[in-house]
Amino acid sequence: MSDLKLPSRSEDFSEWYNQLVLRAELADYAPVRGCMVVRPYGWALWENIQAALDRRFKATGHVNAAFPLLIPKSFLEKEKDHVEGFAPELAEVTVVGGEALEEPLVVRPTSETMIGHMYAKWIKSYRDLPVLINQWNSVVRWELRTKLFLRTTEFYWQEGHTAHATADEAEAETRQMLDVYTDFAVNDGAIPVIPGLKSESEKFAGALRSYSIEAMMGDTRALQSGTSHNLGQNFARVFAIQYLDQKNELQLCWTTSWGLSTRFIGALIMVHGDDRGLVLPPKLAPFQAVIVPIYKSDEEKSKVMEAVGRVQAQLSDFRLRVDTREGLTPGFKFNDWEMRGVPLRIEIGPKDVEKGTVALARRDRPGKEGKSFVPQESLPGQIAELLAEIQASLFDKALAFRRANTHDPVDYEEFKHAVANGWAFSWWCQQDDCEAGIKTGTKATTRCIPFEQPDGEGVCIHCGRPAKKKAIFARAY
Ligand SMILES: [Zn+2]
Repeated sequence: MSDLKLPSRSEDFSEWYNQLVLRAELADYAPVRGCMVVRPYGWALWENIQAALDRRFKATGHVNAAFPLLIPKSFLEKEKDHVEGFAPELAEVTVVGGEALEEPLVVRPTSETMIGHMYAKWIKSYRDLPVLINQWNSVVRWELRTKLFLRTTEFYWQEGHTAHATADEAEAETRQMLDVYTDFAVNDGAIPVIPGLKSESEKFAGALRSYSIEAMMGDTRALQSGTSHNLGQNFARVFAIQYLDQKNELQLCWTTSWGLSTRFIGALIMVHGDDRGLVLPPKLAPFQAVIVPIYKSDEEKSKVMEAVGRVQAQLSDFRLRVDTREGLTPGFKFNDWEMRGVPLRIEIGPKDVEKGTVALARRDRPGKEGKSFVPQESLPGQIAELLAEIQASLFDKALAFRRANTHDPVDYEEFKHAVANGWAFSWWCQQDDCEAGIKTGTKATTRCIPFEQPDGEGVCIHCGRPAKKKAIFARAY
């Protein structure tokens, strides 16, 4: 908590982000390099994200379970692409109680291998399928350059793992979970996302196909905000996840995995935040409204606090915080809650008590424009309405920003300018060498090949070869 102004978001986006995370008390740096401590306010936000996702997972037939943190190293070595992809960031346990382990264990970077091993044991017949399991946990991928929530050695997420009888079912599951992420990002996060297919070089290590949702941050860089992988039979083959079909013939399963992490908190900060601090969408905000009582004398205080008590009782349907901290001015409290992104502020002072009103201030519209005076008795309806309006307006604003910064360059010269300042949506040949050339030349990578495509075909923006699809290109976090 501090009075000091944040760095300007438009002038130094990166430093604005770093300081905001600390000052809003979302997270802090851990004494172990690369690790973060998620503070209670940040964890409350994560819990709301978890609840919103978990509800959707259950509604689509999934159940939660817990698998171990430690995985025999040999498990990872079974799938060649998988181990190659994760090797540089694997943490190993080799010594226990001063003695070398016979077989090293790795701290899970993700759980496909452990789960593959267990599914092979559990799945016997077509009657056992599909298996639809999710787990909420943390994973470790060694990172040298840290950015809180975006890139840390240990991070929190959920990983869903499913096994199916047919390729079609696995593909349908993969797409269904991407739809779940899209629905969550749009409706709860107020973040417009573009769902699509990852390129071969950007796909998950060991997957047949990866899909992602991509969001534009406030500095126009892209953030992959959730991923869903069709693993084909790659993991089923190496772990022997098999079932007897109706004809009593042995078949390999088809598996999927999908995940969304605490990175999403980074997205919320970078999409909606402003110079004053966080702006949280009402559906995920730890507090949807904060009441700031205003008084000078003890006499005023007792009248005001009585009204605050009444209002608080009326608003039991909302996540509410009453700021009763002593020795701080109302102005200080206003700034503090603005910085922490609480969608609505309710001010109650002696004049409001006399008139039977409260003053409401919207976080998304600072100053007079976002202020209104409301009779106390109509407060619950007004607040519900305003929260819905704020939720919708955050989404609209983010969508308008993305549209304004997504370009359709006519040639590669224009493309270079486009990805220096935003996104390019361009025809692309889908060849690895071409993608690598673009990355070297511009630092932009393919984010995804969106499902929504224009009619017809074109020529690749970079190499001029024929192109069947357009892709999103951007510099990414
Ligand atoms: Zn090309």
